Amino acid sequence: MSRQLPDTKGYFGQFGGMFVPETLVAALQALAAEYARARTDARFRDALRYYLTEYAGRPTPLYRADNLAKELGIRRVYLKREDLLHTGAHKINNCLGQILLAKRMHKTRVIAETGAGQHGVATATVAALFGMRCVVFMGAEDIERQKLNVFRMKLLGAQVVPVTSGSRTLKDAINEAMRDWVTNVATTFYIFGTVAGPHPYPLIVRDFQAVIGQESRRQLLRREKRLPDYLVACVGGGSNAMGMFYPFFRDRSVRFIGVEAGGEGLASGRHAATLCRGRMGVLHGAKSFVLEDAFGQIKATHSISAGLDYPGVGPEHAYYQLSRRAQYVSVTDKQALEAVQMLSRTEGIIPALESAHALAYLKKMPARKKKDALMVVCVSGRGDKDMPTVMKAMHYEQD
Ligand SMILES: *Cc1c(COP(=O)(O)O)cnc(C)c1O
Repeated sequence: MSRQLPDTKGYFGQFGGMFVPETLVAALQALAAEYARARTDARFRDALRYYLTEYAGRPTPLYRADNLAKELGIRRVYLKREDLLHTGAHKINNCLGQILLAKRMHKTRVIAETGAGQHGVATATVAALFGMRCVVFMGAEDIERQKLNVFRMKLLGAQVVPVTSGSRTLKDAINEAMRDWVTNVATTFYIFGTVAGPHPYPLIVRDFQAVIGQESRRQLLRREKRLPDYLVACVGGGSNAMGMFYPFFRDRSVRFIGVEAGGEGLASGRHAATLCRGRMGVLHGAKSFVLEDAFGQIKATHSISAGLDYPGVGPEHAYYQLSRRAQYVSVTDKQALEAVQMLSRTEGIIPALESAHALAYLKKMPARKKKDALMVVCVSGRGDKDMPTVMKAMHYEQD
């Protein structure tokens, strides 16, 4: 039963665990112990609820998208509007939870890794709110590509540290953040951005994002008096998808579909579809699926959406895949780009490129499956941040 997963050692079946240097084992165990106390502490839960409501803007609407349903031949589809949250995506749910944990543990400094900069911005935001020092590690390559988010973080008072090792992207930023944590563990809390990493992060992040599925469940039961047939969400590290899926784990009639970044197509090798194409391996402190080459080196990934461009995935998703609780599929850059335009025109909602992957799968899904289906799709974030990328991909020129 999933309520007991992960087990006390942080395993979801054979996936998960704590593959870290010895100096971090004690820190992770202390974090797991403190979190176990916090999750049953009414004061902690009240404080989190307060900030989610009054600061971040929860609950988010569950919007019945009839124009989209008509366009795609789906009986009924609802959109969970995480794009309407403060900072524009679901990441703030997790950051508020973790900064409250940092406060409980009397830490004065927080660190984070970031790829596209979304998790860095959410972390810098909560650090400003709680008056903590904040350092964000970011690949030098990503800093170049995401200038606007780098400036946002600095405006919020964070220090952005360029990482020049390896491929100079997200996976190297995580390694560097871990290194910093080893050195400064007494004062520092590591705010991890997704349901990957060593135990207890996959558990903590899942629980903080589960508010997405809990609200969706309540909202849908009120509107439709029944549970959905399908839940659809994009999967990078897997936090918005797990947040949506987990509260429905025991409802076997509810099918889960996770959509990965197919990039230029799975056959091209230029993608980030870890569950569709990866194999079992250890990355960033946990056993899960990873994308690696014939020599066991982590592969360079590609996706038009920076938030999905990660060669690993959370261990609970690997467990869902192997036990067939969820199905994982992929869509290409081109299909995601079309989905941005489709949702914009049919519903007047411009989604993030990440979220557009989930929406694109609705179009690919066989007609016989969707014509009688009640679906919920997670719109994990808004598209504003992606406009330069979308403009370029559409070959838009100002006249
Ligand atoms: C970061 C991000 C994602 C991918 O992260 P998950 O942990 O897989 O949810 C998806 N959508 C948006 C808008 C993001 O910012």
